[in-house]
Amino acid sequence: MSRPLQVLIDPAAIAHNYRRMKSLAPASKVYAVTKANGYGHGLERVVAALPDADGFALLEFGRAVALREAGVTRPILMLEGVFSADELLLASRHGLSVAVHEERSLHWLETLALPKPLDIYLKLNTGMNRLGFVAETAPAVAARLRACANVAGITLMTHFASADDPGRGIASQLARFDAAAEGLGLPMTLANSAATFDFPQVHRDWVRPGVALYGATPFAHRSAASLGLIAAMSLQSEIIGVQALEAGDTVGYGAAFTAPGPMRVGIVACGYADGYPRHAPTGTPVLVGGVRTRLLGRVSMDMLAVDLSGLPQAQIGTPVELWGKDLPIDEVATAAGTIGYELMCAVAPRVPARTL
Ligand SMILES: *Cc1c(COP(=O)(O)O)cnc(C)c1O
Repeated sequence: MSRPLQVLIDPAAIAHNYRRMKSLAPASKVYAVTKANGYGHGLERVVAALPDADGFALLEFGRAVALREAGVTRPILMLEGVFSADELLLASRHGLSVAVHEERSLHWLETLALPKPLDIYLKLNTGMNRLGFVAETAPAVAARLRACANVAGITLMTHFASADDPGRGIASQLARFDAAAEGLGLPMTLANSAATFDFPQVHRDWVRPGVALYGATPFAHRSAASLGLIAAMSLQSEIIGVQALEAGDTVGYGAAFTAPGPMRVGIVACGYADGYPRHAPTGTPVLVGGVRTRLLGRVSMDMLAVDLSGLPQAQIGTPVELWGKDLPIDEVATAAGTIGYELMCAVAPRVPARTL
């Protein structure tokens, strides 16, 4: 018997969540965003779960080429564009679509001799101030792209900073985008998961949901279940030790939890080296034998402690869910001061993954 910690991935949940996003934007095509190894779910596993996806969007060139070599023929969009002139050649050879967001890669596109023209996503900065040409320069950049023999098609693209925040929303970015795009007659892609849920006016030609495909919420105050999403990842382990504490005894490094009275504590094989957040405080929810209990004290590298008060049947070997179908990753993330996105991407390579 090996260490009991494992991460289980449910392809049916990913397929369900894709259909959910497609049903919200039925007239649009959907790029399944699969950067960061499919948000930690395994790129190949996610692609296999989505035989009907309209396309995939990621940013690691090696992974994109591997998908082509594995026979994936659907559109693949490189979200951060190329990082070198060589990658433009790779993109051309393998039929990858690339975001162009700055002058250097535009210059490569205009000057290199490529084997095949590419589909270009002209990325406009409408206020996120991360990547993109100043939105108002869209007509000039589009004219250069249209004049370029290496360019097959052009799609306009932008990314929202606060589509998940009803207080801020998308209005000013959208107004800038639409003004810049006016009269160009080009296809468009704007929406991440949050915008796909809340702003049908930005569905346009392609939507780009990521986190929702994996069954987590993009919103701070709306659960994945309330959005019709199903968790695709479960992080599961077992109790590997039990301690009986007396009043005043402490648990773990820094003696960060003190028992108020006699109580049993379970030790779970899962720590921060597995991707469990070290900043999760006492009280963070954990499921033990299907019953919700709480984390105690500081998370160690390889272990964490849970409260077994009220769980007299729990013992060594009792199953533990750190997050998954019965304990939303978003609840654990909130308790630890982060977001579900970060937890799912951070599951460590040493944790064995199994496809359900
Ligand atoms: C990551 C990413 C997305 C997906 O965002 P979610 O919030 O996970 O839906 C969409 N577009 C771009 C450009 C991204 O980088």
